[in-house]
Amino acid sequence: MKKALILSVAVLFGFVLLMGTAPADVQAKTTFVTIGTGGITGVYYPTGGAIAKMVNKKRKQYHIRATVESTGGSVFNINAVLSGDLDFGICQSDRQYQAIHGLAEWKDKGPQKDLRSVFSIHPESVTLVAADDAHINSLADLKGKHVNIGNPGSGQRQNAIDALAAAGIDYKKDLKAEDVKAAEAPGLLQDGRIDAFFYTVGHPSGAIKEATAGARKVHFVPVTGPGIDKMLKAKPYYAKSFIPVKLYPNATNKKDVPTFGVKATFVTSAKTPDWVVYDITKEVFDNFDTFKKLHPAYSVLTKKNMLEGLSAPMHPGALKYFKEVGLK
Ligand code: GLU
Repeated sequence: MKKALILSVAVLFGFVLLMGTAPADVQAKTTFVTIGTGGITGVYYPTGGAIAKMVNKKRKQYHIRATVESTGGSVFNINAVLSGDLDFGICQSDRQYQAIHGLAEWKDKGPQKDLRSVFSIHPESVTLVAADDAHINSLADLKGKHVNIGNPGSGQRQNAIDALAAAGIDYKKDLKAEDVKAAEAPGLLQDGRIDAFFYTVGHPSGAIKEATAGARKVHFVPVTGPGIDKMLKAKPYYAKSFIPVKLYPNATNKKDVPTFGVKATFVTSAKTPDWVVYDITKEVFDNFDTFKKLHPAYSVLTKKNMLEGLSAPMHPGALKYFKEVGLK
């Protein structure tokens, strides 16, 4: 009798798991998940907010309560997801590639095998903003200048280092490099305490609006040149992109600015239960048009391109949903 009961509970449990909804024992309570984002004036923070808002609206259906945390960015988020401090995180596609292959910040620690991809989101461009009065019109002009390359937990830091190296500039020797968070950089630029800053971000973003809205006139600097072309060929996770200047009417550029970029991606750990990942993925993709309206940086998104740029294995919960709807 007891055995039969255990068996039927187990079957029911398995069935519910298969359905991708909260298992029976979880349905009685709420499962809390935290999403790591970035600075509040970036695009990751509102992106985490958009996902959380959609999932939380259906709390009765999903039994999930998602909260959003402002963090230092991609590298911080990947590490926090892997240590279990965060359940989900947003990170750049290049950083996802590096973590899974044990490169860059993970060179000593080796491949981060538990990292799982869920889906990708908006494109992000390596954005170099400079004060007009600092006379910086190319990467080479950064020599000797005071430049924020980003905090160590951020995605942009390595992008800035790569761009500078491609132009033959050693960030430790050839310029005065700052390592503050992107959210603080616009203020420092407007106060005359730095000449320029790098930020890898989707557009439009609050931080860049802030940087271009002050009394000190600023412009975007092209992140181009033969060295950059060579680097783009060597590093598969970078691609050419541009910054549409119409999004920032106060910047002094007249034309769109060429640079290179990556994609924002949504990641989790192999340890996150399948049903949680399934439900969140389902909510975003079943209501794709609603999601797309939540930020102007999502205007280029299609369901199909949200499965591109992922190098970590896909989490089984996400894979299950994508197979069901024929996206995989
Ligand atoms: N790409 C940045 C990073 O990885 C964050 C950009 C944002 O917050 O929108 O740190």
